[in-house]
Amino acid sequence: MKSLQQRSALVTGSTSGIGLGIAEALAAAGAQVMLNGFGEPAAIDALRARLAEQHRVRIAYDPADMSKGAEVAAMVRHAEREFGAVDILVNNAGIQHVAPVDEFPEDKWDAIIAINFSSNFHSIKAALPSMKARGWGRIINIASAHGLVASPFKSAYVAAKHAVVGLTKTVALETAEAGITCNAICPAYVQTPLVNAQIEAQAIVHKLPREQVIREVILAAQPNKRFVGIEEIAGLVVYLASPLAASITGAALSIDGGWTAR
Ligand code: NAD
Repeated sequence: MKSLQQRSALVTGSTSGIGLGIAEALAAAGAQVMLNGFGEPAAIDALRARLAEQHRVRIAYDPADMSKGAEVAAMVRHAEREFGAVDILVNNAGIQHVAPVDEFPEDKWDAIIAINFSSNFHSIKAALPSMKARGWGRIINIASAHGLVASPFKSAYVAAKHAVVGLTKTVALETAEAGITCNAICPAYVQTPLVNAQIEAQAIVHKLPREQVIREVILAAQPNKRFVGIEEIAGLVVYLASPLAASITGAALSIDGGWTAR
């Protein structure tokens, strides 16, 4: 039997990048998965069909906008109706905007705080009652190395990711005796559409060519000078969802090539 065969998972922002890799790894481990995120309906249908066929699990989808609390809560209800439970909640959806703080657009600030941080509160609040009733749950918040340290021009992102780490610790304390764990994963740079957009944005801010931005700006603080693989993050999610990780809670787990060891 596969390790997560009896489990159901909800992964926000899983139509692309890291979230898609996590959804795929959970499905490969036998979990039923509800996907979420933006994309062309036909492409999302094709993704659902591919994952379901390849891994022989049920794959559902909810289009909730993570900037809207009521939609986030309704998505959790949808997953509970579809699968009977949300055993594993992965808060992954996130966006980025790069600008000096005194020029940071208010609408970008509000969107980053809502999508990268407040959505985690809304989904956790909605999922916890049924996890507590069953005495089992795994909450995994995809924070960032920027949940532990800062970089210039990313005020909203750094604030939101530090807040995710704080929320993670509080939820862990409140659920420690309930068979539920809550952890944050703090990756360094992963080459996804989100980071490709940042490379372009940083090239403009720093007035440097793309390759120089990758080595001297994006990976400047990363001692191993390589992007983190999506499969490295997905592997940690599957481990945290497994019985072996039952005592890991309230942790901010770095996957950052030594960045935060400095
Ligand atoms: P991505 O842009 O490739 O994917 C983001 C996903 O979130 C997509 O599925 C998108 O549709 C979805 N999304 C965006 N706004 C949404 C909204 N309002 N409602 C619902 N879904 C929405 O990004 P990624 O690089 O895979 O990042 C995923 C997470 O990992 C983010 O929280 C990000 O902050 C974090 N992270 C990324 C890196 C990196 O280097 N890429 C490093 C550390 C942490």
